[in-house]
Amino acid sequence: MAVDPSIIQMMDAQVTRWEKWENNTVWAMIWKANTSTNRKRCSETRALGLNRQRSPYVDNPTTACNFCVKSGKLCVINGIHGPVVMPLPVSERSAGATPLAGNFFVKRRYTSLVSGHVTNGLRTSIVDPAIIDKMNAQIARWDVNSHVNWAGSSPVSHKRCSETRVQQFRKAKNPPAWENPNEACAHCVANKILCVLVVGQLGLGPVVVPLPVSERSPGATPTNGGYYVKA
Ligand SMILES: [Zn+2]
Ligand SMILES: [Zn+2]
Repeated sequence: MAVDPSIIQMMDAQVTRWEKWENNTVWAMIWKANTSTNRKRCSETRALGLNRQRSPYVDNPTTACNFCVKSGKLCVINGIHGPVVMPLPVSERSAGATPLAGNFFVKRRYTSLVSGHVTNGLRTSIVDPAIIDKMNAQIARWDVNSHVNWAGSSPVSHKRCSETRVQQFRKAKNPPAWENPNEACAHCVANKILCVLVVGQLGLGPVVVPLPVSERSPGATPTNGGYYVKA
């Protein structure tokens, strides 16, 4: 059955990461191995080596596990017919979500700033689908290549963007901005990548910040071209 293409892209990235870990660890978790416990615990929690407190066994699960829901990962259970991506619990899905659109299999963890200040400005989750694809690709790259948690809140995560922190750029290369910058940093603008800040306080999570007005294409909006990243 068909699914939202961004889900396929995201699943490919998770599989790449799992297989990289499988090749690098002595205990070699096989994400698609078909064993009796693999039907009770998802591939992500096994790959991370989470204990049963954090990821309890569930007989015949029907939805994504709490860990995957919270961490914004696809939850994959090995059924008797092979790996299956589990749907979100109904309470976590966006209204009207289907396998082809909306938050059906995974909850997006970030929002996008439309205007104002990152801590209290207007945010949206409705943006140009190309932005969602681009963000999925960035998240996949960050997750595969670095141990720095792109979505983690730290004393500087609201001043230095996820790209800067994941790549561990020195401050000289990309200095922390003043408290709570509200626009994409020069590095992300120049490299045409999405600039993401993580605001820990008030429970606000990662937010994609818009381009400086001078860098936006004329008439750009969050849902239409050149608002978050230069074409
Ligand atoms: Zn899971
Ligand atoms: Zn940036």
